[in-house]
This record gives sequence, C-alpha cells and structure tokens, in this order.
Amino acid sequence: MQSETSETMNPDDQINGEAQSALAARTASDAPSAAAAPAGPQRTLTIPRGTVVLAATPIGNTFDASARLVALMEQADIVAAEDTRRLYDLARRLGVHVNGRVVAFHDHNERSKSDGLLDEVETGACVLVVSDAGMPTINDPGLSIVRRAIERGLPVTCAPGPSAVLDALALSGLPTDRFCYEGFLPRKHAERVQRLRALQSERRTIVFYETPHRIADSMDDLLSAFGPDRPMALARELTKDFEEIRRGGIGEIRQSVIDDPPRGEIVLVIGGASENEALEASSSVLSVDELAVLAIDRALEDGLRIKDAIAEVIEEHPLPDGSLANRKQVYNAVLKIKQ
Ligand code: SAM
Repeated sequence: MQSETSETMNPDDQINGEAQSALAARTASDAPSAAAAPAGPQRTLTIPRGTVVLAATPIGNTFDASARLVALMEQADIVAAEDTRRLYDLARRLGVHVNGRVVAFHDHNERSKSDGLLDEVETGACVLVVSDAGMPTINDPGLSIVRRAIERGLPVTCAPGPSAVLDALALSGLPTDRFCYEGFLPRKHAERVQRLRALQSERRTIVFYETPHRIADSMDDLLSAFGPDRPMALARELTKDFEEIRRGGIGEIRQSVIDDPPRGEIVLVIGGASENEALEASSSVLSVDELAVLAIDRALEDGLRIKDAIAEVIEEHPLPDGSLANRKQVYNAVLKIKQ
C-alpha cells in the first residue's frame, strides 16, 4: 500500500499578515456591483443582479476561497447559507464583511424557502447560495433552488471551486476519463451490500463519500463486493494539515483501516471493473427458472435442503439493481420443475 501525507498551509487558522492585506485589497470596492480582482486582463468582478449564484467554499484550506466567492460574500443581496454560523466563521477567516441579508438554507427548509428567494431574484436581487464546505448540491443543499429557478425561467449560475469528489479523484491515480459519483453508501448493511452488488459491473472509477465511524464496515462490504485486488484510494482531510492518501488494493486498504483507523473527512475512490469482471458480474444474472434449476442441482450435489440451496443461489446471483430474486418465486419454479 502506498500512503502519502502532505503538509498544507495552515488551513483552519485565520488568514493573516500579507494574505489578509492581499484579500482585503482585492475585495475592497466602493461600487456596489464590482470588486477589485487580481491583476490580469479582466480587472473588475461584476456581481450579477437578478440571479442565483451557487458558490463553492473551501473544504478545509481557507486559501482555496476564490476572489469571486469573496466578492459575492461581500456584495450579494442575500446569502442563503447551510449554516449561518459557518458562513460568518468563513467570513471572519477571509476578512470579509457579509453585507447582505443572511438566511438559513439547509436540507430541511430548502424546498419551502426556494420560491421566496426566487421572488427576490425576480425583483433584481443577487442570491448567493453556499453550503458548509465545497460545492452546493453535491451532498449539500442547493438543488431545490436550481430546479425551481429553471422551472421559473430565472437565471442561475455558479462560482465553482473546491469539491472533495474531484480532489480525491485527481489524487487517486485511478482513471479519471470516466467516473461516477455515488455519494454516501447507505447506513444499513443490507442496503449497502445491495448498492455495491449493483456496482459490480461498473467499468468507471467510482467515488464515495465516507465517515470515520462507518469506514470499517464499508471496507468489509467493499471487499466482499469487489475482492481484495481491486485498486482503490482512501483520501482523507483533503487540503488540510493532515491530508493523507492511501493507495492500494481493497484488501490492503481494509487492513490499514483496521491497523490505523482514519480520522476526519474521507473519500473513497474505487477502480472500475475490468472487462472480465464486468462480464462475469453481468452474466451472473439469472432468470427465476434458471435459479430454480441451479438450486435443484446444488441441493443434490451438496446434500442441502432445497430451501437452503435456493437461499445460496439467490445470494450468489443478484439482479442487475443489486437486489435479490424473490425466494417464493424461485421455490414455486422448483415445484413446477419437479412436477
Ligand atoms: N459539498 C461537499 C463537496 O463538494 O465536497 C460535500 C459535502 S458532504 C456533506 C461532506 C463529505 O464530503 C464528507 O463526509 C467527506 O466524505 C467529503 N469531504 C468534504 N471535505 C473533505 C475533505 N477536506 N477531505 C476529504 N473528504 C471531504
């Protein structure tokens, strides 16, 4: 297993000294709709009016805040923040004053709040949407307002930036040309196993978010679903002081999780299935009648009760969505064959 840690810049501390003055200089502006931007061909940063702007915030390192985020935080008419305390904390670290109205905008109220915010957009307001860290809508609030804005024909744009998905993918060393993002695995074991089974024939690199208290169970399930040799990377504390990337086969990484449980925020990146693995996974899908024939053979060969043989073959041959065939249907098919 390859493990790598890197020292990054003092992320959680307040930006101070030179950096603070640089930020202050680039965000200072007398005009309500323009902020000074870094030197270059485009010297002013225009804040769009009558628009929803989703903006990515740092996932650990405050220095990853873009000039556009800083200007938007200062000048948006309304800031819809997942957690208003975290917004003000970020503003403090960036040395920015949030001048607009701040509203809480989280998973529990985003549906009911979106239309009210869009009414303000209709009257010309710039509504900035930020989550606690990273890109809004990526396992974070934001999708409701985007959808409603589209339905109502109102402008919505994005000030992109940090997101743990792309950071981990890029650092994994696994193919990046085709990948899929699977968010968090389900909490319940049976649902997690079903989700992973459905991914057994997935050829693209797969990205999951994970938490320290579930990582050990998830590694066990990843091992059963994909085997010990499938390459993967475990990326934790990205952009922070204790950033670490563990790369290796699933078996090795699982062992490392047992020996040295990872703490902090985690992303798992799993290599896609090889052509053979994908073929094997998709050809293992059987019809109810085929499962019945297999169960009868298994019962005879291994001296099992038919019910136990059915349970075994059903488990070994999940349906394409990862769920299992209905036992009763397979049992009825067995009875039909025996008659
Ligand atoms: N919107 C965020 C984004 O764009 O990455 C994701 C928010 S989701 C609620 C939080 C999860 O993202 C964490 O549990 C972890 O899996 C992942 N994550 C966020 N920041 C991370 C970091 N600095 N290092 C590793 N994983 C991180």
